Formats: sequence, structure tokens, C-alpha cells
Amino acid sequence: MKNKYDVVIVGAGPAGLSCAETLANNGKSILVLEKNNKIGHKICAGGLTVKIEEESIVFLKNADNVFYSMKLHFSKACRKLDRNNLVTATIDREELGKIMLKKVLKGGVEVKTETEVKEINENSIIVNGQEIKFDYLVGADGSNSTVRRYLGVKTKKMLVTLQYVIPQKIQNFKEMEYFFNSKILNGYFWIFPHKNFTAVGVAYYPKNVQQNTCVKKCFEKWLEKYKIKIGGLKLKSFPISFDYRDYQFGNKFLIGDAGGFASGATGEGIYFAMVSGKEVAKKIIDPQYDCSEILKILKIKRKQEYFFEKIGFLNNIIPNLGFNILSFFLNYKWFKKIFIKIFI
Ligand SMILES: Cc1cc2nc3c(=O)[nH]c(=O)nc-3n(C[C@H](O)[C@H](O)[C@H](O)COP(=O)(O)OP(=O)(O)OC[C@H]3O[C@@H](n4cnc5c(N)ncnc54)[C@H](O)[C@@H]3O)c2cc1C
Repeated sequence: MKNKYDVVIVGAGPAGLSCAETLANNGKSILVLEKNNKIGHKICAGGLTVKIEEESIVFLKNADNVFYSMKLHFSKACRKLDRNNLVTATIDREELGKIMLKKVLKGGVEVKTETEVKEINENSIIVNGQEIKFDYLVGADGSNSTVRRYLGVKTKKMLVTLQYVIPQKIQNFKEMEYFFNSKILNGYFWIFPHKNFTAVGVAYYPKNVQQNTCVKKCFEKWLEKYKIKIGGLKLKSFPISFDYRDYQFGNKFLIGDAGGFASGATGEGIYFAMVSGKEVAKKIIDPQYDCSEILKILKIKRKQEYFFEKIGFLNNIIPNLGFNILSFFLNYKWFKKIFIKIFI
């Protein structure tokens, strides 16, 4: 590692690597620091929506599975989203990491793994006793961001998630499915099949759930209901921050989950991380750049969050009231079209 870089990026997730790739194409000296020994070692269901393809950031050909329909299960009905242009996919996060890392290294970016950033100063960081100066620092270090903490940016809005990764040899799943039943939990459950495994999980916003609720028990109840076998598998948990406040703080930036860019409704964050990473790179290259794509993703994210906030609120008045209303309207083609436009 040199003693000075134009840009130091903390975190080699989709946000950090997208940012590095865009900067590399513009001749900046860039250092990416990653605390894990592997890129893409991340608790995630790996679901991608068609927005990714529109951005041409990730090609769906790299996906584990591509789905042309999705099932939404409610307590009394199942709605299938299957319009022609509905395309979702799952990708292995380690595979995604490999693809992105290859592009970044090709651009001449220096990537250092097993290097955790703990100490940040105004214009330098200290790692392994070495001081590294920067013109710009980018916090791409996820939902528990050290850079965000250094900047004093509060984080109040987080989704809590629990997830099992079920190897195909234990149980095989074919369809991408969501499950909504606030009598079990005022959140949602998912089944996202990959090539060799399936991600099965639950996400909820603590504000919507009574304090004494044991979410692990709710998850077990749901797993039992759908006869999903998890014997001996390790339950993993990680938060998803969706508390966006701002992305620029002088010569420091927050992108991806560190910036609270993920959707607080669906937990989708890969796309938002990539777009925010690219946009901040453009801003560093040209300080006059207006980051119009960030405004667009914030609009999508806020629409989704508003929608689900109302549903969560109604579910708390009468269990499943919000979900039943959603299920009712999903019977109509015009509503399905709007729903797909907002969420997929
Ligand atoms: C259970 C679960 C399921 C999810 N499912 C989906 C899904 O299906 N689709 C979807 O789009 N999104 C999903 N998400 C959200 C998605 O994983 C994130 O939004 C996305 O990974 C954000 O990318 P990022 O680059 O901002 O952060 P991350 O992917 O979290 O990357 C941050 C990186 O920074 C590193 N790091 C952290 N601190 C430091 C430090 N101090 N020094 C150096 N390195 C550091 C970490 O090791 C990590 O590699 C899910 C999340 C969870 C928890």
C-alpha cells in the first residue's frame, strides 16, 4: 500500500466495487480495503430485480436462476406476478464479488483484503499501523458502517433479518416466493432458490413488531407450516440499514447500506448499492455532477417504504388487514401493473 491515494474506499461489496470501477476508468489512484478474507462473503438472499438489467450493471446471464414469475402468499390466497416483462433472478454473492473484483483489478485498482479500517482522521486512515492519506474517503462498509459512525450520522431505521441457507441436497425449491402473514409476524418471509442452495429468511421492521416477540420462534412456526427442513443448519442474522440521510459530507461519502440506500420495504439493496457507488464516483470525478440517478433511486425507495409502512400500520390495527387489502387489489391487472412497476 502506498502512503497516499486519490480515493480510499472502505468495503468491497457491490457499492464499493461499483464506485471503484467507475473511478478506475477515469485515471484516479484508488485503494479498496476489505475486512474479510474473501470478497462477497455476505449474508444475503441474492435476489436481483429487473432494474439491475436496465442499468446494465450485472448481466442476468451470471445469475444462478432467472424467474419469469413470482408467488406472493397471503393468509387466504396466493397471487402470482407473471407479466411478460417480470424478470427476477438470484445470484451467488461470492460469484457477484468475483465478477466485480475482476473488472476493478483490470482497471488498476488496488484491493486489500483482511484489512479492517478502525481509525479514521480528517484526511487519512490508519490501517495496521500505517497512515494512508486520501483526497476522498468513501464509506461502502455496509449497515454497521465505521465511516458512518466516524461522521456522526445516526442510524435509526434498520430491518432485522434471519436467514438459513439450505443446500439443494437437503431440500429443493423451484420458485421465488414471498409470504405475508402478520398473525405469524408483521414482516415477510422469502424463499429464493439458487443453483446449489436456497436462501430462506425473514425480515421485519422492529417498529412494527411488539417488543416481547420472539422472532426466531415466529420463523420456526412459519418453517414448520411450510414443511421446510432446517435441522443442523446455522441461522444467520444481519441488519439492513435504510436510514438515508445524505451521501456527501465534505470530502467523505457514504454509499450502499452505509448510506442507508437499501429499500426498507423489500430489503433489496444490491441495485441501490451499485447505483449509489457509480454516482458518487461520478461526483468525485466532476464535483459539478448532480447525481440525478441517486435522486431516482431515492424516489423508488421512498415509494416502496411509504407503501409498506401503511400496510404494516394496518396490520397492527387488525392482524393481516394491510396484507388482505394488498392481496385483494392484486386480483386486478391494473394494480398488479402498478405494483410490479414500483417493486420489481
Ligand atoms: C438476510 C439478507 C438478505 C438480503 N437479500 C437481498 C436480496 O435478495 N437482494 C438484494 O438486492 N439485497 C439483499 N440484501 C441487502 C444487500 O445484501 C445489501 O443491501 C448489499 O449487500 C449492500 O451492499 P454494500 O456494498 O453497501 O454493503 P455490503 O455488501 O454489506 O458490503 C460491505 C463490505 O464492507 C466490509 N466492511 C465492513 N466494515 C469494514 C471495515 N471497517 N473495514 C473494511 N471493510 C469493512 C464488509 O466485510 C463487506 O464486504 C439482503 C440483506 C440481508 C441481511
